[in-house]
Amino acid sequence: MPSEAALTGRCYCGDVRLKLATPPLTTAYCHCSDCKRWTGSPLPAFAAFPRHAVDTSQFPAPGFSTKAGVERWICPRCGSPLAATFDYLPDQIYVPVGILDDAASLSPELHCHADQALPWLCLSDELPRSSSSGRDLLNEAGATDG
Ligand SMILES: [Zn+2]
Ligand SMILES: [Zn+2]
Repeated sequence: MPSEAALTGRCYCGDVRLKLATPPLTTAYCHCSDCKRWTGSPLPAFAAFPRHAVDTSQFPAPGFSTKAGVERWICPRCGSPLAATFDYLPDQIYVPVGILDDAASLSPELHCHADQALPWLCLSDELPRSSSSGRDLLNEAGATDG
């Protein structure tokens, strides 16, 4: 885990800048079809932060989602995904690792929806794999936050 130093990030165009007040609770891959479509990535990864650590007042309001209980924000100018919240992961907010400046230090600790992994992905890690949302492990990570 990174130190107390604030993490920073930005969208593709730079109009939206992120400054995270705390280190992530955990970082996880998500193989679900929603996250793949939202990010355009075959394997999105997200850093989970306490909800208060991300200032969403800079984001276009409201967020958008095709599913109840989910809110997703994008940059209104360039369309970069910025963050998402999920009702089943209370008090947490998920930021795509790829928009964070220090992504190299944020190695994922879990695969969520591993049963939806693309068949040609070749992954050799031994990380835990959840066939569903991984909410138990993710909520646990939030609960053990310092
Ligand atoms: Zn942008
Ligand atoms: Zn997902």
